[in-house]
Amino acid sequence: MNSMDIQKKDSKYIANTYKRFPVALVEGKGAVAKDPEGKEYIDFTSGIGVNSLGYADAGWADAVAAQARRLQHVSNLYSTQPDVEVAERLCEYTGFSKVFFGNSGAEANEGALKVARKYGMEKHGARCNTVITLRNSFHGRTITTLSATGQDSFHQFFFPFTEGFRFVEAGDIEGLRDAVDETVCGIMIELIQGEGGVVPVDAEFVREVARICEEKDLVFAVDEVQTGIGRTGTFLCYEQFGVKPDVVSMAKGIGGGLPLGAVMMNEKTADVLGFGQHGSTFGGNPVACAGAAYVLDRVMKPEFLEEIRNKSEYMKKKLLEIPQIKSVTGLGLMLGAELEEGLTAGETAGKCVEEGLLVLTAKTKLRFLPPLVINYEEIDKGMEILARVLQG
Ligand SMILES: *Cc1c(COP(=O)(O)O)cnc(C)c1O
Repeated sequence: MNSMDIQKKDSKYIANTYKRFPVALVEGKGAVAKDPEGKEYIDFTSGIGVNSLGYADAGWADAVAAQARRLQHVSNLYSTQPDVEVAERLCEYTGFSKVFFGNSGAEANEGALKVARKYGMEKHGARCNTVITLRNSFHGRTITTLSATGQDSFHQFFFPFTEGFRFVEAGDIEGLRDAVDETVCGIMIELIQGEGGVVPVDAEFVREVARICEEKDLVFAVDEVQTGIGRTGTFLCYEQFGVKPDVVSMAKGIGGGLPLGAVMMNEKTADVLGFGQHGSTFGGNPVACAGAAYVLDRVMKPEFLEEIRNKSEYMKKKLLEIPQIKSVTGLGLMLGAELEEGLTAGETAGKCVEEGLLVLTAKTKLRFLPPLVINYEEIDKGMEILARVLQG
């Protein structure tokens, strides 16, 4: 099928919940994707922060294919080697005690919210079930994670939404203190609001969240679905904020391209969920976990993480050299660029795609989540296209 055939069938048969770019992709290598006609695209998106090692990494593909040939799924009624390998790597590296595997970011956050509510109920009584989240946050598309998302535009159409959420402005310490009462069981935050516009949350505020959770015995949950797995230059982003959450959710980058989500729990929260209280048919799928074990082996190396930080500095410098870019936010290879007045992120992203560069948007900004393995030559090529497009 050529691009036209694919796009025609797409709009005919696939639910139109996405306004897609007019591009079909059929193969890729590293940070370069190709359409059926052989046109190349530099990838500054990694499938929205998913393909940590880029397209078709040979070691990852071998690990996944070998597991698919051996044992593709057994359900969570039995143990498998890939699952325990991933769980062991995660716990040993982070110091968390236990992990629950799901398949996506929203599910990982559902797990985190269940932990917070059950912890609150058991420790402080049945009324203790409110979770505080931040305005402008994004936590997922299930009814409950939409409820947790602090943006009114997500609270439409699907009533009734799940109750028990209270929103606080990021950075507003007084507002946070006021919002905590005896019904609050936990606080869940992103450290860089990704979908919200690549907006870093103030570090002092984050430490205050940690302090309040400690003081009042609440569950401190960090949504690292986008920021985790090396994305921001440390394995998990909270390492750069001087805090240690009770629960961390992750997903996007962990499977290297296969669906996998994880909730990590510390000593305080590891035993909150007991037999039969949570589950997932697909969660911890051995093929996804075989890929994840390989991703973690690569990403958890100090040299690999250092390279992310180096490339980040390089990308930031290159972005700021473009006259039409007013400012750059974010950490590691999760960057946002604010454009000068008169330029819109959506239109710019569309033109970039035409010119052979895949970029994302977040609110009014351009957003960049290149594969962690992108090389300097690919960065340069992408930046040339971006500069050309912005020049008009
Ligand atoms: C993408 C994202 C989610 C939702 O993940 P899905 O896998 O799409 O369910 C949740 N939280 C954050 C911070 C995200 O970036």
